[in-house]
Amino acid sequence: MRGSHKTFLSLCLIVFAGLNSTLARPTSKPAPKRPASGQVYPQFRSQYGVIHWLPEQMPLKVYVSPGSCLDGYVDESTGAPRTNVDNKADWPFLAAQVLSSPEALNSLPQAQEFNEGMRQAATQGIQMWKAFEREGLFRYELTDNPADADIYVFWTHHFVNKLGLGLFANDIRGVTSKESFPYKAILAGGQADFKPVVILLRTTEPGGTPMPYDKLRAAAAHEMGHALGIEDHSPNPGDLMSIYYGRGVISANDAATIRYLYRLTPDLIP
Ligand SMILES: [Zn+2]
Repeated sequence: MRGSHKTFLSLCLIVFAGLNSTLARPTSKPAPKRPASGQVYPQFRSQYGVIHWLPEQMPLKVYVSPGSCLDGYVDESTGAPRTNVDNKADWPFLAAQVLSSPEALNSLPQAQEFNEGMRQAATQGIQMWKAFEREGLFRYELTDNPADADIYVFWTHHFVNKLGLGLFANDIRGVTSKESFPYKAILAGGQADFKPVVILLRTTEPGGTPMPYDKLRAAAAHEMGHALGIEDHSPNPGDLMSIYYGRGVISANDAATIRYLYRLTPDLIP
């Protein structure tokens, strides 16, 4: 998730200009009623089609690691950590590699500035989507067993790019990577070598101070939205799935979007 402050500012200016011109022009038209339900934002769809989990995969298992950091795994060709954001597509393979060895998993260092409260905040964020379980969209549960999960949360002090340069100024709080498989091919009997979905959460703010719990909670909820299948970002800054995290909770638009998404037949399965 990456945000540009500049974009946000210009967006604000446009909104304010719009408001002013509305106020300046008296009109007999009644104010439009606020929609009772949210609007589906089409950015949920990936460029390859609709991605979501199947009922057969439920309940999904989510493992929130106790601060475990994968940044020590280096890409030999570039010298940068494999967790660099330009190498996102590789993360599920990296996680699969680490998870296949209990020794490797147990020897992962803890991300700097991590504390146990962060794990709790992340867990709370992830749990926000449970509101939709009773509607039958999906089911998931947290697990303490890293050998048996579909979605994994690991941690990083800060994100880096492919040159290994820290993206300090950037307010990226989390990034999700998932490998997906064509549903039709699976239906036709094709074998899919499913890989773990990886969420990386950041332990620090741009200034290097520990990430506040409320920001982390919002980040984890946002990344869980990606893990469930909302591929890109809502253009509405008030939505959790916008690059601004909205109010840090699932908005009416986010709700409408996840409901709509899970009503569609997927093209791809994580
Ligand atoms: Zn995002």
